[in-house]
Amino acid sequence: MMSAIDTRELRHLVRSAIYLPSEDGYDEARQVWNGMIDRRPAAVVCAAGVADVMATLQFARDRGLTVAIRGGGHNVAGAAVGEDSIVIDLARFKSVRVDPLQRSALAGGGCLWGEYDWETQAFGLASPGGAISTTGVAGLTLGGGYGTISRCYGMACDNLLSADVVLASGELVSASADCHSELFWALRGGGGNFGVVTSFQFQLHPVRQPLSGLVGFPFEMSRSVLQRFRELGLEASDTLTLMAAIIPLPGGGKCIAAVICDIGDTGEGERAARAFRELGSVLMDTVAPMSYCAMQKQFDVSYPKGQRHYWKSAFLNALPDELIDLAIEFAGDAPSPLNVIMIEMYGGAVARFPDHSTAFGHRDALFNLSMLAISDNPGIDAEQKKWARDAWQRVLPYSTGGTYVNYMSEGEDVHAAYSDARFQRLAKVKAQYDPTNLFRFNQNIPPASS
Ligand SMILES: Cc1cc2nc3c(=O)[nH]c(=O)nc-3n(C[C@H](O)[C@H](O)[C@H](O)COP(=O)(O)OP(=O)(O)OC[C@H]3O[C@@H](n4cnc5c(N)ncnc54)[C@H](O)[C@@H]3O)c2cc1C
Repeated sequence: MMSAIDTRELRHLVRSAIYLPSEDGYDEARQVWNGMIDRRPAAVVCAAGVADVMATLQFARDRGLTVAIRGGGHNVAGAAVGEDSIVIDLARFKSVRVDPLQRSALAGGGCLWGEYDWETQAFGLASPGGAISTTGVAGLTLGGGYGTISRCYGMACDNLLSADVVLASGELVSASADCHSELFWALRGGGGNFGVVTSFQFQLHPVRQPLSGLVGFPFEMSRSVLQRFRELGLEASDTLTLMAAIIPLPGGGKCIAAVICDIGDTGEGERAARAFRELGSVLMDTVAPMSYCAMQKQFDVSYPKGQRHYWKSAFLNALPDELIDLAIEFAGDAPSPLNVIMIEMYGGAVARFPDHSTAFGHRDALFNLSMLAISDNPGIDAEQKKWARDAWQRVLPYSTGGTYVNYMSEGEDVHAAYSDARFQRLAKVKAQYDPTNLFRFNQNIPPASS
């Protein structure tokens, strides 16, 4: 716990705003995107620069306090804020510097994907990022980072060229393939375990006007739409990404939607849209050419801050009819009308990066199936968690056995996101760079004991 003397000292050490319990702004500063998370940190430090990060870490270390790191605050497990911890909030680390000649960009550790995309698209360039523009660049990349152009260019972490990291020791290092290479490997999928990343350098790719949108059908058509999604998905080229989801309808009830994101120039996205439309009974159809930034924020409105989320997910390398039927059954049994069943398509470039190249694994997966329990009602939290967990148990026999660390909820076994060998390698890197587990409010990898 921090004393009044500690508090005064911390204020002298940094130039940033600090929010303490009982002060104005504290309740807002401790909130994360998931309304189910309600933790009370000892302080929230809105770091203004690298010096603030270094000073806060030293302050925490000297007093045996733990530290939580906040990028975009989107993590469903609420990993950006820890009870009694000092939160280092990077929201002021927003700068994006694009080098169009080298096709690379430097992004601050608190950037959101919408901000990054806006700057890089000014040059007609993009890096694979999340499908919702309000998600943080940091947490998404550190856990892997799947997005609408991943099948073409890989995961976000596959496009990371280097990262500036303030280590638990307070030292600032730059990690890349040539320097601190084990740390660099771990940062690409091992989550926020290894230090505070103050900036990310990414590879950029030319991406201009995509064709994107969704085609929605009555819930009763879920089986045929999901079968068509599987058929088209398995033969799609890398430039086409399809997703499918059972989602709530604005006026009540639910529907099955096929999402199309095509960055190619062969008309494949339009052909896929036509193949879905041919199933008939189309309820909505938003598929159209749009800017890359518009594509990346088209579903933001469905994921507002403050709703209560509990997620479970499983990687799959096939989508058999029995599993399609199970997914439809889960959607029908959902305790909340807002719950979503989502299927993302992997493969393409994601599968071609060597398995050992990053801490993110799962390169053999073709799909990821997620059960998203979403509601506004705290009274049904237990029921919602049970729904997601029970559904996940029934999906397990069809899964690769792997789960995506970025979609894990509170209290899950982090080991499930990694093979044994990967987990052990990560634990060794953790022991080298954060031996006291200063950074433990994350999908925690305990340091290996020597
Ligand atoms: C609505 C929504 C949509 C999503 N869509 C996608 C998607 O399309 N693809 C995908 O792959 N994932 C997606 N995710 C999951 C997302 O990748 C994770 O929730 C991720 O953790 C969010 O990163 P963040 O920076 O916003 O989170 P935070 O909650 O701020 O942080 C997440 C973790 O990263 C650590 N961290 C954050 N910043 C730093 C930093 N600068 N240095 C070191 N550690 C840091 C934190 O300590 C924490 O452990 C989505 C999540 C939501 C809620």
